Amino acid sequence: MKKTLIAAIAALSFIAIATIVLAWGFWVHQRINRVAIFTLPPQMLALYKPNIEYITSHSVDPDKRRYSNPHEAPRHYIDLDRYGKSPFDSLPRRWDEAVAKYSQDSLNAHGIVPWYVQLILYRLTEAFKQKDKYKILHYSADIGHYIADAHVPLHCTKNYNGQLTNQVGIHGFWESRIPELFGEDYDYFIGKAEYIEDPSDFIWKIVLESFSQVDSVLLMEKELSVQFPADNKYSFEQRGEISVRTYSREFSAAYQQKLNDMQERKMRHAIISVGSFWYTAWINAGKPDLSDVTDSPVSANDQEELEVMDKAWRDGKIQGRAHDE
Ligand SMILES: [Zn+2]
Repeated sequence: MKKTLIAAIAALSFIAIATIVLAWGFWVHQRINRVAIFTLPPQMLALYKPNIEYITSHSVDPDKRRYSNPHEAPRHYIDLDRYGKSPFDSLPRRWDEAVAKYSQDSLNAHGIVPWYVQLILYRLTEAFKQKDKYKILHYSADIGHYIADAHVPLHCTKNYNGQLTNQVGIHGFWESRIPELFGEDYDYFIGKAEYIEDPSDFIWKIVLESFSQVDSVLLMEKELSVQFPADNKYSFEQRGEISVRTYSREFSAAYQQKLNDMQERKMRHAIISVGSFWYTAWINAGKPDLSDVTDSPVSANDQEELEVMDKAWRDGKIQGRAHDE
């Protein structure tokens, strides 16, 4: 009896972890990376289009990596409000200056996404220079993930799951529930990738804009909650064997409308930004011809890392901060 109970609790908590902690939801990351490919010029499509499934499915590796790599979690967010008031002028935009001022440990404690995007941009540029197919695809998928996360307001505040304002659950509600309910109807005609002159400035603008939206994200949910009694705000949905409580379709639709389709606008901006970062890396690498890039063997190390990542993810124990706890 006791054993069965423990097993049941273990199974339930695994499902809860697996369904709750995934930032921007797997569906959203996959869609962003996939659509970003269509913003690219023909010279880049020569490589990206045949590998669309790789770029799509590996868009979620960084979230999976949080289960195997204790350094992974802070790469997905930055708690800007740990650094005073917007626009946080006292926070150096350059990594070395920020480290000198705050120490690497304390930067890591509050998240490093705008700096990490620039590191991956550098690695992607090097991969283009070497015409290393595996690395180009790997870093393209990765940077797409981090740029997308930087677009989420609740990835830019210490109140990342409404835990300081009695709104626990809002993180997954905003970034996963809403787009998963309505995202198929969003407009994905985005335009063409553009060269980014100043990547640092570009990514900092994205996180500052995301931070400026935190107030509305929280306030609108509070206001709507007053209008919706709890049994209308939530509903139960079947997920496999169990029934889980989630935000109702009506409440979700009302929230999206009150936010003036913020999720759709942010997804569109994320897509064009991802395409533009890929494009910028390629230009900065000297526009290598991608039509004759041959398969590069995946190194034993890279292969092992992927396997460890997948196994740890399936086992379901996250390292470091989960955004929705
Ligand atoms: Zn993430």
